[in-house]
Amino acid sequence: MINQNNHRHVHNGIWQEVRDTNIYSKRDSPALFIDRDGTIIQLIDYLNDPKLVYLIPEIISIISIANKKGIKVIMITNQSGISRGYFDWDKFASVQNVIINKCKKIGATFDGIYACPDHPDKPTKFRKPNPGMLFAAQIDLKIDLSKSFIIGDTISDLEAGKRAGLKQGWLVPTGHGMRDRQNVSNLADSSFNVHLDTNYKDIEVVVTKLSQERS
Ligand SMILES: [Mg+2]
Repeated sequence: MINQNNHRHVHNGIWQEVRDTNIYSKRDSPALFIDRDGTIIQLIDYLNDPKLVYLIPEIISIISIANKKGIKVIMITNQSGISRGYFDWDKFASVQNVIINKCKKIGATFDGIYACPDHPDKPTKFRKPNPGMLFAAQIDLKIDLSKSFIIGDTISDLEAGKRAGLKQGWLVPTGHGMRDRQNVSNLADSSFNVHLDTNYKDIEVVVTKLSQERS
């Protein structure tokens, strides 16, 4: 059974978890969308063992800064291992608990978490590169997508961000980041800024700037 506390539940076929305590703020906020596997934690295919969670310290530092600056942090993750029958939502939850608790210990928290179980052969509007999870977060957390950005290790992350109308995306060097470099560069255009040589310090600058724009 999935823990019904903490506002986490499977709805419309995806995991939707709103952890933000300030969801009733009227104003649309900027958000930082972040992929999980290969971006927040070290890439292990179809991870379902909580003992194999290894955080990537540079991104955790960005999350912590965003938390302090009032930028919402939203995890968006494809989890096709569920539709492939490799693990279930309970296993997913046990891995998530470890990630969340490890992050919390070092001062990084998530305002929202979205996970899509779709098989790549039968994707719904939620499976990245489709932007459905970002649109779900937009409604749940009152996000201004045009002021938001995305960090991921694959082209599907950045493409989802672009299709959701985000301003910019960052490809990290971890996970599949090096593999997808060339393809991701083709996503760049006048409406969507792509950062390939991701320097985590540069992301910190953008996060800080975003928070200043709000005040
Ligand atoms: Mg990834």
